[in-house]
Amino acid sequence: MSIYDEKVWLSQYSPAQREPRTLEFDDALAMFDATVERSPDTDIIRYFDGSITARELDELSHAFAAGIIDAGFRSGERVVIYAQNVPQFVIAQVGTWKAGGIAVSANPMYRERELEEILRDSGATVLVALQSLYTDVAAKVVGATDVRTVITTSELEFQSANSGALAGAERTECPGTIDMGEMLTAFRGRTVPPAEIGPDTVAFLTYTSGTTGPPKGAMTTHRNVVFNAHTYRDWIGIGADDVILGVAPLFHITGLIGHIALSLLTGAPLVLMYRMDPVDTVETIEKQRATFTVGSITVFIALMNAENANRDALSSLTKICSGGAPIPPSTIAAFEEKFGHYIHNIYGLTETTSPSHCVPFGTRAPVDELTGATSVGVPVYDTVVRIVDDNGHDLPPGEVGELVTTGPQVVAGYWNKPEATANSIPDGVLHTGDVGYMDTNGWFYIIDRKKDQINASGYKVWPREVEDVLYEHDAVREAAVVGVPDPYRGETVKAFVSLRPGATVTPEELIAFTKSRLAAYKCPRAIEIMSDIPKTATGKLLRRELRAAPTASA
Ligand code: AMP
Repeated sequence: MSIYDEKVWLSQYSPAQREPRTLEFDDALAMFDATVERSPDTDIIRYFDGSITARELDELSHAFAAGIIDAGFRSGERVVIYAQNVPQFVIAQVGTWKAGGIAVSANPMYRERELEEILRDSGATVLVALQSLYTDVAAKVVGATDVRTVITTSELEFQSANSGALAGAERTECPGTIDMGEMLTAFRGRTVPPAEIGPDTVAFLTYTSGTTGPPKGAMTTHRNVVFNAHTYRDWIGIGADDVILGVAPLFHITGLIGHIALSLLTGAPLVLMYRMDPVDTVETIEKQRATFTVGSITVFIALMNAENANRDALSSLTKICSGGAPIPPSTIAAFEEKFGHYIHNIYGLTETTSPSHCVPFGTRAPVDELTGATSVGVPVYDTVVRIVDDNGHDLPPGEVGELVTTGPQVVAGYWNKPEATANSIPDGVLHTGDVGYMDTNGWFYIIDRKKDQINASGYKVWPREVEDVLYEHDAVREAAVVGVPDPYRGETVKAFVSLRPGATVTPEELIAFTKSRLAAYKCPRAIEIMSDIPKTATGKLLRRELRAAPTASA
């Protein structure tokens, strides 16, 4: 019997949670249907000056489903959504489910090769893209994939008045594509037959560099979505009277669950922030009286530095979660001192559908005395998290090992990658690649990573992907990419390269080379050119040594 069978923390929070819960809904659509029935006229999305009610979202997503079915979409197929935080994202996602499909989100920062990889890997037949992203990026690669239907849309759609933040945005002609606004108008009023979906049906493919290897589509099931929408609702205490500030990117699991799914479940309006502009965000919090948000540490640092931020402006924002990256106690304290609100740390991965651990609302995270790390909280209900050594043996409280997670939020595996699934999620047990420990009261701390992943403000970068791009440069003989400490981002990307005999190139040129091929957050901010890159006798890169090398900025 494992020492974790009796979870110490349960007694502190809710003894009633000892029994596994029966989920209220089988799938995310049933969850949304209940909201539409309960409060059809509530605003479910707010976007600049416009809003969409629950009933309207239901109608629009039916129209979307009818439109793609008319264009040949079949149940089980994939729809890639490539957009910023706009209402069309939510309509396309819910509409895809109504058509029995799987929604796949692509980071709007992706360049051609990254988008193409997702389109190819997912085998998507439909692409929904913002007009500007289609013209600049998607149009160049979509022809080489299985996509049959391209739907484009303007960020100005669903806007009653042109807002400051969108000033300058224009509608663009995208020949050969279906205009989403026209499609929704044409199919408005149509109702598609109920999709054949259940708890085990895949709802999303959420691409992540994962615990090992290059980006993979984590198969997030409807059970995963329903379960973790409830986690946010119950552990942070969100209800219909809350207003969700949608500042996390919707393509990431944090936005998919902590924004969209939470809003579909509770009926709390989701206020979409097209982009994270600190001054705009403060104005929006004040105007919309936003009560809840979840984001990474950079959001909170940006809010503290926004010139218009003060206690009054942020007075409504009482329920705050930070996740995706470490948040030091000093940031939590400074935020509380400035605005009077405590930031609750949460922890999870794409593979746990957002949180597996929360600092429950109303409690305060203890701090690890040795490392100064803020506790990531306690495992949420029905979730067992073990700390294991390299041989997979359970370690007692206080001892450091890898976190291994089992629970209803663990995804079904990686799309078309049985080997990666067997490596990281054997028999549904997730090996997180994160290293930490549990204290004797049941609080967990993350203090290191087993995986090579770089965490730049919550954006995850897989060194191999960046190294592959550097290797494409004619001058590069060898490349090694690591994360180095950065006061603002936590970590940032640094590359070490050695050059081919006789070749010359500057770090600036190499950085520009990566920028034309990769999303900006993946590109090295510093490159050091060395004669040889340190390796073990067997040729393995000595990343730890490189990480510790003194920084010479490019
Ligand atoms: P992602 O799949 O993008 O959500 O990234 C998951 C990874 O982010 C985890 O494996 C951790 O390494 C890191 N992470 C998430 N939340 C936290 C947290 N609260 N503190 C420290 N690291 C975190």
